[in-house]
Amino acid sequence: MTLQRVVIVGGGHGGFQMAASLRADGFAGEILLVSDEPGLPYQRPPLSKAFLKHGDAARLDLRPSKFFDDNTISLMPQTRVTGIDPDGKHITTGDGKTIGYDHLVLATGSRNARPPIANLDLRNVLSLRNLADASELRTRLSAARHVLVVGGGFIGMEFAAVAPGLGVNATVIEGAERLMSRAVSDTMSAHFLMSHQGWGTSVRLGQFVSELLDDGAGNVAGARLADGTDIAGDIVLIAAGVVPNSELAAEAGLAVSDGIDVDDLLCTSDPNISALGDCCNFPDPLSGRRVRLESVQAATDHARTISKRLTGKPVPYAAVPWFWSDQGDLKLQIAGLGAGADEHVAHKPEKGGLAVLSFSSGRLVSVETVDSASTHMTARKLLASGRIVSKPELAAVNYNLVDYARAV
Ligand SMILES: Cc1cc2nc3c(=O)[nH]c(=O)nc-3n(C[C@H](O)[C@H](O)[C@H](O)COP(=O)(O)OP(=O)(O)OC[C@H]3O[C@@H](n4cnc5c(N)ncnc54)[C@H](O)[C@@H]3O)c2cc1C
Repeated sequence: MTLQRVVIVGGGHGGFQMAASLRADGFAGEILLVSDEPGLPYQRPPLSKAFLKHGDAARLDLRPSKFFDDNTISLMPQTRVTGIDPDGKHITTGDGKTIGYDHLVLATGSRNARPPIANLDLRNVLSLRNLADASELRTRLSAARHVLVVGGGFIGMEFAAVAPGLGVNATVIEGAERLMSRAVSDTMSAHFLMSHQGWGTSVRLGQFVSELLDDGAGNVAGARLADGTDIAGDIVLIAAGVVPNSELAAEAGLAVSDGIDVDDLLCTSDPNISALGDCCNFPDPLSGRRVRLESVQAATDHARTISKRLTGKPVPYAAVPWFWSDQGDLKLQIAGLGAGADEHVAHKPEKGGLAVLSFSSGRLVSVETVDSASTHMTARKLLASGRIVSKPELAAVNYNLVDYARAV
């Protein structure tokens, strides 16, 4: 059946790419992009980095409004989707409208987790997920001196890196024994810990916040750690992970685990509904494991995969995951997934920087680099080629990936 109308729920990175790819792939029907946020779709990564410095929201737009007009993509901002009727093939919105679809794409992203800490509702306890959060954080920072960051993952550490330039000191409190432990190797965690400490950030590892302290007037005054230590701070940024926005799908009876379950074509358990990006759980083509990734690249590659299927050229998702995180003057890039790795080897590329090669049963599965674009790009090409790159082969070239790739 020819699709007449594709409705996309969520106007973030994946939702926008979904609409753009459908048009680029020749879809001629109606495209409706429904978002609960105001304005045009915008870039999220700068919210914890450059935007906190320049504060110019217009610089974040993914495309100007003309793009949506030229491509006849209907935008429905400030509209929350509250229900899906898979049998009737329609969605309902918070203001009571019913909208029919031939195909529905769920691009609802994720929201910040609320850790079990007492007093999270005090004034100046903030989180960072959207433009409104970042604007508020920026405003409150102008009157702040010390920020406590709960969580030493990417977003917490990106914020901590810009804090000194904004005139505030930062203390990061992380429950794990190392920074960014979900995403990088021990060596990389240690490298970033040293850099952050050099930039003046205080980092408390292996510590949990049990409650936030009240100044007596409803403002946060600091945090109490589980061991009873109090740390003063006039803003607390909660950066303790995310939760996928999969409730809409679950309530509609779709299969959901850690996110909305999809197959290698990004189709949910209902053939008329696809899901992408932060909210979906998909089979990783390299490891075969089911994963949920929080990255712009995954969301946009998922969208391209769905678009190909909906326009009659289905190709299973096969992209190599890659990520980046800019912290101070360090550019961290990761190619592949290191989660199942059992061995890591650090290497200093000739042109500078650092690389950590991760292996699973002797096979290269992931490469983390700092300031080594050539190693990162080579890793992406090698992993995408499907070639089995073994540890002994790499040991023979002193783990220099660029030399290895030149020779094969
Ligand atoms: C501060 C910050 C910094 C980041 N930095 C990086 C980085 O450096 N590199 C990187 O790769 N990734 C980074 N990320 C992660 C990246 O932004 C996400 O992985 C990416 O945006 C996921 O795209 P998505 O389309 O799945 O979800 P999103 O871009 O989050 O979009 C989801 C949209 O759906 C809307 N929505 C949800 N429910 C509904 C509903 N019921 N009705 C209507 N609309 C709804 C949400 O409000 C949101 O606008 C960062 C994220 C944040 C918050």
